[in-house]
Amino acid sequence: MPSDCLFCRIVSGELPSAQVYADDSVVAIRDISPQAPTHVLLLSRKHVDSVRDLGEADHDLVGKIVAVAAELARRDEIAEDGYRLVVNVGRNGGQTVDHLHVHLLGGRPMAWPPG
Ligand code: AMP
Ligand code: ZN
Repeated sequence: MPSDCLFCRIVSGELPSAQVYADDSVVAIRDISPQAPTHVLLLSRKHVDSVRDLGEADHDLVGKIVAVAAELARRDEIAEDGYRLVVNVGRNGGQTVDHLHVHLLGGRPMAWPPG
């Protein structure tokens, strides 16, 4: 685990977070700067820099993260109205933390196209 990675330090419990879910491969926390009434970050336990760096062995992990996002949306009662899953990748994608994560955003209508 890269010791200077913010999300690795959150996943390991070294740094505090508002955790809403954890299992052996995924940890979900509330975003510190929420952009919607529900803004959850789904973090892989394993450090992967970004979607660009996924290997074939990570396909199950990505499927798991999406399935957990859907379950947490149901729990937050935003599933019926709908929500958005976002993965920012690299500089143009707006990624600011280089550790694989999916944003779950909901509780308000989302605009399209995104900024
Ligand atoms: P991204 O820009 O896609 O890399 O997303 C990184 C997200 O992490 C942003 O939405 C930040 O608000 C969020 N964030 C940064 N630091 C923390 C933290 N300590 N706890 C929870 N969320 C954080
Ligand atoms: Zn990391």
